[in-house]
Amino acid sequence: SGKEYIMMVRTRLPAGLLTSKQLMEELDLCDELGNGTLRITSRQATQFHGIHKDNVRTLMQRMKGVGLTTLGACGDVNRNVMCCPAPFKNNQLHNQIQDMSFQLADHFAPKTGAYREIFLQDPETGEKEQVDTGETIEPIYGKHYLPRKFKMGICLPEDNCIDVYTQDLGMIAIHEEGKIIGYNILVGGGMGRTPSADKTYPALGMKLTYVSPEDLIPVCEAIVKVQRDFGNREDRKVARLKYTVRNMGLDEFKKKVEEYFGRDLPDPHPADVTDFDDHKGWSEQGDGNWFYGLNVENGRIADNETHSLKTAIREICTTLDPGIHFTGHQDIIFSGIAEADKGKLEDILRKHKVVLTEEISNTLRWSMACVAWPTCGLSITESERALPGMVDDLEKEVEKLGLSGEKFTMRMTGCPNGCARPYNSDIGLVGRAKEKYTMFLGGRLLGNRLSYIYKDMVPADEVVPELVKVLTVFKEQRVEGESLGDFCDRLGQEKLLEATGG
Ligand code: SF4
Repeated sequence: SGKEYIMMVRTRLPAGLLTSKQLMEELDLCDELGNGTLRITSRQATQFHGIHKDNVRTLMQRMKGVGLTTLGACGDVNRNVMCCPAPFKNNQLHNQIQDMSFQLADHFAPKTGAYREIFLQDPETGEKEQVDTGETIEPIYGKHYLPRKFKMGICLPEDNCIDVYTQDLGMIAIHEEGKIIGYNILVGGGMGRTPSADKTYPALGMKLTYVSPEDLIPVCEAIVKVQRDFGNREDRKVARLKYTVRNMGLDEFKKKVEEYFGRDLPDPHPADVTDFDDHKGWSEQGDGNWFYGLNVENGRIADNETHSLKTAIREICTTLDPGIHFTGHQDIIFSGIAEADKGKLEDILRKHKVVLTEEISNTLRWSMACVAWPTCGLSITESERALPGMVDDLEKEVEKLGLSGEKFTMRMTGCPNGCARPYNSDIGLVGRAKEKYTMFLGGRLLGNRLSYIYKDMVPADEVVPELVKVLTVFKEQRVEGESLGDFCDRLGQEKLLEATGG
């Protein structure tokens, strides 16, 4: 017998949207073919882990049966398009940006027939009815696709829940009187870095221009094509758009985009992001119904010794048939809940020992970890399995310090690749060696400031004590209304180390 391989398979879900029926099928599939868990990702998609190679096609075909796909969820193409998922029906803004995220996902999906041929044709009969014949032309990606993965996201200025500054191509929808009048375009954001290569770095998007809704897709296409033609194809470590833009210079890059687009592009609009809404708890959605944002610790849908979240979600889907929306913080929103059914949803969660959002600490609510061990092949150390214990310890300390009301983001990753976006959060913990982390401080909830390295090689069991020292100094020396991230940014590494005693 040959070698056995297991795979991770990721679904593409623009704006994190799916139906109850689709989620039920994914839960069945993770039980039947995977490791019994489904992971919500930091890009509003889902991942199956532990899929045996022999089962990959079956899984993809079953997904196709409920209208889901993995095409564009991986590879050197446009990845899952992030968008604020909040299902507000009382204004058109959310509908418009969500609709735009679907249009972008379709427009930038690879057109290859190979995907269908390899994964979707009937393995028994070899039926070719779903298969494109003839040569496939990729109108945007050309023969060699992009030099590296490419990430897009759309937000509203008052709600940056998709972390627009971390996208290769970020879009801020500017609106007046309930109507979107245009989009500010940011280019060159991206979290990933390679520890052994100093030439790699996390970066925030830079404002490029402001475009009308009609011009948005053509301008995005011009940006993608400039990256296709001028991105680095010799060295994958520096192939993301953030390096292309910075190597060319923003002005030169803009000129190229104008050339590809065919017109000059104006300066950006002065509007910027001003807040971040995690959409947790109950919200009236504007049509008489409600939506509920449930905190999912590190995005893992599973039944375990403390709660039966997977079972609870199945029961909610079967009895209430809500719309499902995944957030960029790896959480789940159930939409379309009638006033009379609100109690039923809460009862189901309680019955399965799932802690309601209203009952968790701010520390837990604003934390997230990437997958890391045991299923991510790139991880250097623990993340998803390490953060919960640290959060448990830290929330007690935060309470003792009287800081439970503070909102600060704490994000952990098992390697510097930064999948959980640790470099612009208030606290970033990045795996550096086995059970050792680099501690970053000074980012913020708004996501538009990079953090700095506060301490390197911090052993896992010293992370919480180190943070307690920082929080103690923060409590004593903050100015009125200052957030943890703003405080750490104001002091900077040197003064903060002095204040904490190093
Ligand atoms: Fe991403 Fe690294 Fe975490 Fe793996 S260990 S999920 S590559 S950040």
